[in-house]
Amino acid sequence: MLEPSQPQPEPSDELKLNGGGTITQAAVPAQATAVPAQATAVPAQATAVPAQVLEVLAPDAESMAELYRSILQGVGEDVSREGLLKTPLRAATAMSFMTQGYRQDLKTILNGAIFEEENNQMVLLRDIEFYSMCEHHMLPFFGKCHVAYIPNGKIVGVSKIARIVDMFGRRLQVQERMTNQIADAIEEALQPLGVAVVAEGKHLCMVMRGVQKQHSTMTTSAMRGVFNDLSTRMEMLTLIRDNSR
Ligand SMILES: [Zn+2]
Repeated sequence: MLEPSQPQPEPSDELKLNGGGTITQAAVPAQATAVPAQATAVPAQATAVPAQVLEVLAPDAESMAELYRSILQGVGEDVSREGLLKTPLRAATAMSFMTQGYRQDLKTILNGAIFEEENNQMVLLRDIEFYSMCEHHMLPFFGKCHVAYIPNGKIVGVSKIARIVDMFGRRLQVQERMTNQIADAIEEALQPLGVAVVAEGKHLCMVMRGVQKQHSTMTTSAMRGVFNDLSTRMEMLTLIRDNSR
């Protein structure tokens, strides 16, 4: 909460942080380019902001908002028109959300969700949606990811696989690297007999600009351990294909 002596912003202009911290977008006069002092003053209690909120908001969302204001001016927009008044902070918040993977780590995500298991049959999680942004154009690429592994005494809670995909998706990426990082993370967490990741993505930098190929999909894969064996790899690929009919 803000101290009573501080100016109270419009409630709708606040980004609520659950622990009582607030990042404030004060009503900025149209021509002002500097963030008002009270907007940058983070309350002392902000240190108590829950981790799940901090991991979403970039630490410097306010100055990111200022940069978005410059981008709007750069494309020829009138930043004072009504529809755009809150756009810089909204865009900064959205960008923070879409890049929250930078502020996450594998250990926290997996916390307590690895279990001993003797049954060493293939585990396949298919059609995990992912959303990422290409690091060359900062435009989205998105699609489905399939993750398979063959345990070697340890399995992981199934929702954690999806969270690992999110962690590497929500940052600037190339699809090839994202695919490998997901495989590396599963390998590091479980030391399985093998891990396979296949990602199928549509890239807006191809669809909306450049060559404008609207129906092309890029497929990338990372095969580790026993998935380098042709028959195991074929079994996984067949399972993906059969189930997507
Ligand atoms: Zn691109």
